[in-house]
Amino acid sequence: MKTHRNIPFFVPHAGCPHCCVFCSQVKITGHGAEKDLESELRELRALLDSCGEAKDKESRIAFFGGSFTAIERNRMESLLSTAAEYIRKGVASGIRISTRPDCIDGEILAVLKKYGVTEIELGIQSTDERVLALCERGHTVRDSDNACRLIKEHGFTLGGQMMIGLPGATAESELQTARDIVAWGADEARVYPLVVFEGTKLCEMTLAGEYVPLSEEEAVKRAADCCRVFINAGIALLRIGLHASENLAEAPFGANHPAIGEKVQGRIYADIISSLAGESAGSVLEVKIRREDISMLTGFGREAIGYILKTTRADGIKVLPARYRRFYPSVKKYLPG
Ligand code: SF4
Repeated sequence: MKTHRNIPFFVPHAGCPHCCVFCSQVKITGHGAEKDLESELRELRALLDSCGEAKDKESRIAFFGGSFTAIERNRMESLLSTAAEYIRKGVASGIRISTRPDCIDGEILAVLKKYGVTEIELGIQSTDERVLALCERGHTVRDSDNACRLIKEHGFTLGGQMMIGLPGATAESELQTARDIVAWGADEARVYPLVVFEGTKLCEMTLAGEYVPLSEEEAVKRAADCCRVFINAGIALLRIGLHASENLAEAPFGANHPAIGEKVQGRIYADIISSLAGESAGSVLEVKIRREDISMLTGFGREAIGYILKTTRADGIKVLPARYRRFYPSVKKYLPG
């Protein structure tokens, strides 16, 4: 998982002209309704004043939480020009925004470029028209395709966000979404197993039996399969799953485990190790992985280890730290005794 310093500033839902069935920005970000512009800018300045000079060149001021390019133009440009002022002071070296595919065009991109935006994350969520319609996303697959092309043509770093377990989605449609995001030139990706928050239309659909959330096991498996598409394509995974929060813990349905991302990473490792080992009945596996990744195998009651033993039928497993730079583990088999 790629790490970098983001200075997050939440711009609430008010910018978004739509209401996707799963959306509850207030629940996700923990931030409420739109503030007046003056207090919003004051808050942004206070945050940036508290940050000090950036130590790495990947440090970004990140506007998250709504559809940034859909907010009122004066508000958007005021936020951007304040961020640009702090970039000149060395607090960060770029600006990251997130938005919807149908809120991108050449004119908007020229404005973003003028203020020093470097990365644009698109909420693509699915590239299955039926899923987009069931989620009431209000945009089409073609909008996503066009937006990605324009973003790349204008020289921005492109981030693709997708979700796991949306209404109407299947494991195959999710894999296809990941492949499309790769094909459209994404440099980075985020994968979010769906969480059903109270107060959303999706919550009503769940209570009415019109939507059945994935089990945690299924969400972890499907997310891991999509993440592998990104890893194999050399695309940086910025995040898997929502940040842990009180709101997340209170979500009544869906993949609301506070460490779902670590569970997915454990499964990715476990799948790779299982396929390297193959059928291993009667053998013990010796697995070497980066020291910092060991907890992905041994955490959560050794869930990933149990999965490897089950899928390979090995008699045991020994996990050793290695000084690898790479993500991939190595596996040796030997007979016990
Ligand atoms: S596009 Fe994003 S912010 Fe707008 S309703 Fe959908 S999920 Fe919420």
